[in-house]
Amino acid sequence: MNGDKKLIDDTGTRLDGRKADELRKVTIKAGVLHRADGSCYLEWGGNKVIAAVYGPREAIPRHTQNPLRAIVNARYNMAAFSVDDRKRPGPDRRSREISKVTSEALEKVIITDYYPRASIDVNIEILNAEAGTRCAGLSAAGVALADAGIPLKDIPVSCAAGKIGSEEKDGSFLGGQIVLDLGKEEDNFGNADLPIAIAPRTNEILLLQMDGHLSFEEFEKALDFAIKGCHQVSKIQKEALINKYHASEEEEKK
Ligand code: ADP
Repeated sequence: MNGDKKLIDDTGTRLDGRKADELRKVTIKAGVLHRADGSCYLEWGGNKVIAAVYGPREAIPRHTQNPLRAIVNARYNMAAFSVDDRKRPGPDRRSREISKVTSEALEKVIITDYYPRASIDVNIEILNAEAGTRCAGLSAAGVALADAGIPLKDIPVSCAAGKIGSEEKDGSFLGGQIVLDLGKEEDNFGNADLPIAIAPRTNEILLLQMDGHLSFEEFEKALDFAIKGCHQVSKIQKEALINKYHASEEEEKK
């Protein structure tokens, strides 16, 4: 589905007023839960996400242990109240898939061989969902891992770009435009979504998924947009961590 909704107008303005290469507002707070080893609260547009990290701790059951390195268990969960219609609680195919790809992405930046037989558990809870929750969750997890003091090669960060249609006055459909960070309507009625995660220091790709169709040129442009988006979010992640440690230094001085 693409033609019956004008997601971007002739001046290149999107439904929510953003330009093609503009992110939704992202705010991040590190260290929000006292029981967890590391945590993060992140808002990204209408998405509200909590990430909590436990570990490294002994992996249980024991048969899951790896004698050479720690295992990384990310668990993505959408709260029943996170969407318009109540979502059936508990894991489903989608949350299992997101948990798996998130674990694999995080594993690439965590220095797991420091902690044989251990597990590092990353809980991602989506409290409010409004498109792009896997990117929001993974970016929150990156901050929570750093907050937990887990040795990382880099703080992982995630963002998506996609393609949305524009319908002409005569009803004809004009291909589509590549835009950064699809909002809810754009995700529902757009033509393609390309969520990625990177290690921002090297631009190593940690996750890349694609929903819909893009030509090679469109793919290259979307990837470029998504990488630039990741760098913007990365800056906000680092500010959140600096703010937390700055605040605890101030507390100590009192
Ligand atoms: P992402 O959240 O990473 O974009 P999807 O593309 O699978 O992942 O989902 C897009 C959006 O669809 C979600 O952000 C959420 O707003 C909505 N959504 C996903 N699953 C459900 C569900 N079970 N019930 C209602 N809305 C959902």
